[in-house]
Amino acid sequence: MKIHEYQAKEILKKYSVPVQDGIPVKNMAEFDKALAELQARGINQFVVKSQIHAGGRGKGKIYDVRNRENLLLEGGVKFTTLPEKATEYAEKILGNILVTHQTGPEGKIVKTIFLAEGLDYKKELYLGILLDRSVSKNVIMVSTEGGVEIEKVAEETPEKIIKEWIDPSVGLQNYQARKLAFALGLQGEAFKSFIPFIKNLYRAYEETDASLLEINPLIITNDDRVVALDAKMNFDDNALFRHPEIYAYRDLDEEDPLEIEASKYNLNYIKLDGNVGCMVNGAGLAMATMDIIKLAGGEPANFLDVGGGANKETVANGFKIILSDPNVRAILINIFGGIVRCDRVAQGVIDAAKEMAVKVPIVVRLEGTNAKEAADLLAASDLHFEVAKSLKEAAEKVTSVLRN
Ligand code: GDP
Ligand code: MG
Repeated sequence: MKIHEYQAKEILKKYSVPVQDGIPVKNMAEFDKALAELQARGINQFVVKSQIHAGGRGKGKIYDVRNRENLLLEGGVKFTTLPEKATEYAEKILGNILVTHQTGPEGKIVKTIFLAEGLDYKKELYLGILLDRSVSKNVIMVSTEGGVEIEKVAEETPEKIIKEWIDPSVGLQNYQARKLAFALGLQGEAFKSFIPFIKNLYRAYEETDASLLEINPLIITNDDRVVALDAKMNFDDNALFRHPEIYAYRDLDEEDPLEIEASKYNLNYIKLDGNVGCMVNGAGLAMATMDIIKLAGGEPANFLDVGGGANKETVANGFKIILSDPNVRAILINIFGGIVRCDRVAQGVIDAAKEMAVKVPIVVRLEGTNAKEAADLLAASDLHFEVAKSLKEAAEKVTSVLRN
């Protein structure tokens, strides 16, 4: 699960990680109040920050929601010393569309702004914590090349990213914290403040079951304080039951509506850009099915794992989700009957296809327990199914259906 920057900063604050003061707002009335409040706290520099679940906001562009051609503002994160400028930025941003290199050209509507204290700083650094699955350890990565796209640094100058792996049995050690501070070229007060900063940050990452914690940029202020100027946190969905207060941060506006619908039926669904809808049981088989569709020259419209116990209901729900995507022009059903019996699934497919009045061609490959009975059922039904014996044949059939 992803959360917004202002929410991540609320969490970090609880762990004594320094972040700048700020207030999230959803409309101009709230904005005016927040501005007055920050001014009353003695703040006289502001940063107006679009809150969407995508990065690159600073370099993004704000377009008019009523007319997407109309460019309203360069940058979805704006710094200013003038309160009236902050108001002007907020008016241009709220309710309009932010397009960044991570949102795709359609962009995202900005429904929340984080109005925060604007800080002056002398250095922008990078810091990321995530799980390195290849060694089963968390890794802390730092770089002096903060602020810019870290992917670019990783590609062009990988030696500028310094990594420290954390042994899970002993946790982050002081010498490692110092090593990271040296790698960032910190000295004096900044060096001293970095040590508790990284220790608290790592604790926040571990205790919240985060899967990613990225601070880009991490800044060194003119008076040598270390502050998280930006914060991105993702969480392990399987651990969210332990953190109801974090789960409460879930923002359905930022998620794909079909994916939300699928999660209600316990279907693992990810929407993709192609036109071949896939219904598969098992994540591994679903991945293999997508691969082979691409190999046959097609483009999968989705990843859909209906789970091990596929039955009539799951198949019907799967159809519902797949058919709600207007791009879908053919469906490939690929079920391996291990625990489930293929004839049951076949009956489910027939019933659901009738009920839903499915119009797009359906290619079915059922293999495993009672595969023969399943094939007979499909052949005997008055619906037209393309039946395939192998995965390869299924993928070829579905792509050839699309070509015709
Ligand atoms: P991102 O573009 O989505 O990663 O959003 P960030 O929160 O990282 O902000 C983008 C950029 O805005 C930063 O890299 C800074 O250059 C600038 N920025 C953000 N907050 C401040 C601030 O308080 N003071 C100053 N001077 N610049 C800021
Ligand atoms: Mg950033």
